Amino acid sequence: MARRTLISFSGGRTSAYMTKRLLDERQPGDEFLVVFANTGREHEETLRFVDRCDKAWGLNVAWVEAVTHEGRVACTHRLVDFATASRNGEPFEAVIAKYGIPNKVYPHCNRELKLNPIHDYVEAQGWEKGSYETAIGIRLDEADRMLADAKAQRLIYPLVRWGVRKPDVLGWFRKQPFDLYLEEENGNCVDCWKKSRRKLLTVAKKRPETFDWQARMEAAYPFSGANADGQPRRFHRQGWTTVDLKARARLPFEPFRDGNHVRDPELDDTDGCTESCDIYTPDLIDLMGRAA
Ligand code: SF4
Repeated sequence: MARRTLISFSGGRTSAYMTKRLLDERQPGDEFLVVFANTGREHEETLRFVDRCDKAWGLNVAWVEAVTHEGRVACTHRLVDFATASRNGEPFEAVIAKYGIPNKVYPHCNRELKLNPIHDYVEAQGWEKGSYETAIGIRLDEADRMLADAKAQRLIYPLVRWGVRKPDVLGWFRKQPFDLYLEEENGNCVDCWKKSRRKLLTVAKKRPETFDWQARMEAAYPFSGANADGQPRRFHRQGWTTVDLKARARLPFEPFRDGNHVRDPELDDTDGCTESCDIYTPDLIDLMGRAA
């Protein structure tokens, strides 16, 4: 039976693998929408990778960016492409101006920068809610992140069904003519507040200027959005400002090397946040329906 599938392409290897394989295995009549939501804070190599995958494999990727509106109106989308995509955090800044700085207490950025613009795009294509499934790029080694009510929400996990783990994806890419030329700590938004402290410190040590944008956001929008305690909002856990983060990165620590450093709870824990920015993660589902 023909199926409709929405694929949220994150710009990482795992979702690239899933997207290609789903399209390779498509049956006559199957329909796909492949969407990449650009926040403006992705690394240039992520954007190049999305563009390369699209051109090499004919994915027909729709690049969307959030458009923020006044009042109780969720973000809609605008279409961009590799050439016109924002690279200075413009969609993200507009979301911050309205909803405030995102952090563990106010985790709205995925919802407003990805989920809502993607759904707005899908609706604009005439796909009604309930008429399609959404493929989520969670691998077998990450299966604990699958949602218990996935079936009710029409979420599918093809990589889990295929038994694909991280080494399978890496091994497959080693045989391809191109790869994602990016250190793991720079995936998703380069300065994502969900990342472990070790990853953030590593980014700050190698390229301190990466955090200039967040420093500007913390200075310009400390009280934007909801504010339960009257204190200025900050991105990072334990109330660290980006200035604190950059200062700590100048002290000795063992930088992030994927699976090759001695684990330290202080540096490697994420305080219950998943580092993932999938459009359906447990922490996002908690947030859906809450007033922003
Ligand atoms: S959760 Fe992280 S990666 Fe996702 S939109 Fe927010 S800052 Fe960016």
